[in-house]
Amino acid sequence: MFPVVVVHGGAGQVPKERSEGSSLGVRMAARAGYAILRGGGSSMDAVVEAVSQLENDPFFNAGRGSLLNIKGEVEMDAIVMDGKTLGCGAVSAVLNIANPIRLARLVMDKTSHVCLTAEGANRFARSVGVPEVPPESLVTEYSRMCWAKNLAPGTNRGDSQMSQMGKMGTVGAVAVDRQGNVACATSTGGVANKMEGRVGDTACIGSGGYADNQVGAVSSTGYGEAIMKVNLARLILFHMEQGQSVEAASGLGLAYMESRVGGLGGVVTVDPQGHWAARFSSLQMAWAAAQKDTLHYGMQTGEDFTHSIDDPL
Ligand code: ASP
Repeated sequence: MFPVVVVHGGAGQVPKERSEGSSLGVRMAARAGYAILRGGGSSMDAVVEAVSQLENDPFFNAGRGSLLNIKGEVEMDAIVMDGKTLGCGAVSAVLNIANPIRLARLVMDKTSHVCLTAEGANRFARSVGVPEVPPESLVTEYSRMCWAKNLAPGTNRGDSQMSQMGKMGTVGAVAVDRQGNVACATSTGGVANKMEGRVGDTACIGSGGYADNQVGAVSSTGYGEAIMKVNLARLILFHMEQGQSVEAASGLGLAYMESRVGGLGGVVTVDPQGHWAARFSSLQMAWAAAQKDTLHYGMQTGEDFTHSIDDPL
């Protein structure tokens, strides 16, 4: 079994001027996650490190760079799950935390609950010493520009999936470590110009992510209202339980979401043997995977570029 980490930077359509930055971001994140696995670290540490890096990268819709709600504010969701114990932690609608994925992990590690939301999540963050940052520090010029554009008269207000597909950039990762433990992590600013208090798939166990050592792990991205209706992550693992490969199961889950509720999206998937897949039904999804000291990456359907993990990016 070869340890592996697979990272995504959100399903959708990556604007041309952001494609190089998005591709570089996922490759760097996969490399950071892989360094942990190569050093004998856990899959949970690897996915949290990879996703934290992407939260810090303003090219992605998570942490700094999150899309804004209708009031022009950041409201973020994040989830982690540990396939060994089925332990999971999530936060939703948090405003002023630089790395919601680390807070989600603390919910898993330090509380008896699975998900904390809004002000309660912030109070918990304070109690465990997670620093709060000024909410404006997470807002970028690009996210402000998307928000203003969506407010313009005649613009589709972000309540349909087609209006979303040009603006995604949610981040996520799955990994398998040397012990065969699988884990997932997903983090997002949600959909553009969403209603205040809207919580998407990312914070919902089985939708935005799921991990079980007996089957595998999935991190999802796409239109959350569609992902939640089909429980996308768990649906893919169900197909794997029925004997499908990671690749086939991922394709079946995405195809069902498209035919049943008209939803587009993408996933990264692993099984405990180290097989992996990065699949999407959207136009694009920046992704990268690291295994056997090789970095794989792509953004358009069918792409799988490779180079040695230690080559300059
Ligand atoms: N799934 C996220 C949400 O609906 C958005 C995305 O993946 O881009 O909140």
